[in-house]
Amino acid sequence: RHALQDRQRIDELTSSALIDCLTGLYNRRWLEMNFARLLSQQARDGSTLCLLVIDIDHFKEYNDTHGHRGGDLALIALGETLRCSLRPSDFATRYGGDEVVVLLQRTSAHEGLKIAERICQTMSERAVIDAGGAFLPGITLSIGVAASSAGVTPQSLMKAADRNLYRVKANGRNCVCGGPEN
Ligand code: GH3
Ligand code: MG
Repeated sequence: RHALQDRQRIDELTSSALIDCLTGLYNRRWLEMNFARLLSQQARDGSTLCLLVIDIDHFKEYNDTHGHRGGDLALIALGETLRCSLRPSDFATRYGGDEVVVLLQRTSAHEGLKIAERICQTMSERAVIDAGGAFLPGITLSIGVAASSAGVTPQSLMKAADRNLYRVKANGRNCVCGGPEN
């Protein structure tokens, strides 16, 4: 083996360890490695980092109705929707089962809320298509939004966005919330 081949193999392994196989989005490990750095970078630039916490609505029921494979196809559709909706400077990471965390660089809470609304709308209009070309029902999303301010940490920003996600779920889902301050 040549050194170059080894290098390519290492690159492949490194990238797959940071990317979620199913959706092609970054994984939680990537987020843990980059969140704090991006946050302090934005603070240094006098800019804000906006966080979206996205959760699929009633996804357990979707799995129960359409099978685990149907659920996987819905997750793939979510990944594609996000790739199409986001800018090159944004990062989408699959945080857990049906939860995705998006980091929007240089984005205010107001702008982030608009982006979240667009993602919500686009997803609700999109069908999920199975391997045979048959249409499964689409999914809807609930999104909590929070933007960084002085003294914020990755944990506190996550907590703020999570609180807003919880508000959306409590108010009936398929919607976004940027908190009472918005
Ligand atoms: P809510 O609207 O309150 O979010 O309800 P929910 O049903 O989405 O919430 P819950 O957390 O109970 O269910 C999440 C489901 O996501 C349960 C689990 O089976 C499913 N899930 C998690 N990871 C995967 C996956 O990789 N593939 C598939 N098909 N399903 C997954
Ligand atoms: Mg869910």
